[in-house]
Amino acid sequence: MDFKIYGISMTCSFKNILFSAVLLVGGTAVEAQQTEQRYSFSHPQMGTEFRLIFYCRFDSITARAAANRVFAKVDALNSAFSDYQPESELNRLCDQAGSGEKTTISKPLWDILLLSKQYSERTNGAFDVTIGAVTRLWRRARSMQELPDSSRLAAAQQTVDYRHILLYGKNQAQIDLKGTRLDLGGIAQGYAADVCLEELRNLGIRQALADAGGDIALGDPPPGEKGWKIERPTLDSTGQLANETLLLSNCGITTSGATFRFLEVNGVRYSHIIDPRTGMGLTHRNLVTVMSNKAVDADAWATALSVLGPEGWEKLKEKHPGVKVWITTY
Ligand code: AMP
Ligand code: MG
Repeated sequence: MDFKIYGISMTCSFKNILFSAVLLVGGTAVEAQQTEQRYSFSHPQMGTEFRLIFYCRFDSITARAAANRVFAKVDALNSAFSDYQPESELNRLCDQAGSGEKTTISKPLWDILLLSKQYSERTNGAFDVTIGAVTRLWRRARSMQELPDSSRLAAAQQTVDYRHILLYGKNQAQIDLKGTRLDLGGIAQGYAADVCLEELRNLGIRQALADAGGDIALGDPPPGEKGWKIERPTLDSTGQLANETLLLSNCGITTSGATFRFLEVNGVRYSHIIDPRTGMGLTHRNLVTVMSNKAVDADAWATALSVLGPEGWEKLKEKHPGVKVWITTY
């Protein structure tokens, strides 16, 4: 899983959150808010920092309790989705690959695997979570600062094909090829950001933002504002990387690229995003920002379009009118 680069502009307005009163209830001070308070909480998980920003009339203790409840959901998702934890549900499913055995998995894992297969179909395999055996080799290569061994890479690439994930009713799944490993790093954070927002809504908090390290789910705008200020990369008039601030609400947005996580060998920069057709880390310098109705959609498309590039998106965009894409080449 990767750290995202672009995200929230922190210049939110505080003009509507000035009033609060302190009451004494049974000798205990309880803050009763006359108007919305702004709260911000963070929590490290999935190799990144999750952040919640929301406005509500809860006192600070209740707001903290709400955030803790949301973060507990994120922790549970991580235990299901992690490819780092040997005992995660995901790894237990992968350990059964090729055995012919079906494994019962949790609903979130089943759901994200179904979504992943759908994104693979929509992107002609550019997005493919069965990339796990290949990403393992690239992770090791990054730590060793040398390219992966080509024969091992070729063998790992043989295990990549989303059609090896078989999903059945009653939350059962199977991987029908030995050696196939799953890596949800291209979609899990967006999925988790949506879950955070949904959980906040269930708690009555609608003016909210959930940021899973750059995979951002947005609810209603802050009080008195037209939207949340979100930055996306662009080029300025001199061709240098710069930010454009977007004003957004009730959508998901993410940026994918190789700015931070890459391996450089002989002057070539290999991204942590892999082209499933070659098993190689991408070498172009594109930053792909995607906005869609859900963060999970933005997350998966941003990874896929990093692989497919602007030409690939040209061919697909008519079928996906709800997906807005900016590709910045630097
Ligand atoms: P993102 O930062 O959302 O673009 O996701 C990048 C992460 O997704 C990588 O660190 C890998 O864990 C995983 N990944 C790499 N290449 C692919 C791919 N072609 N399809 C799906 N996931 C990928
Ligand atoms: Mg992604």
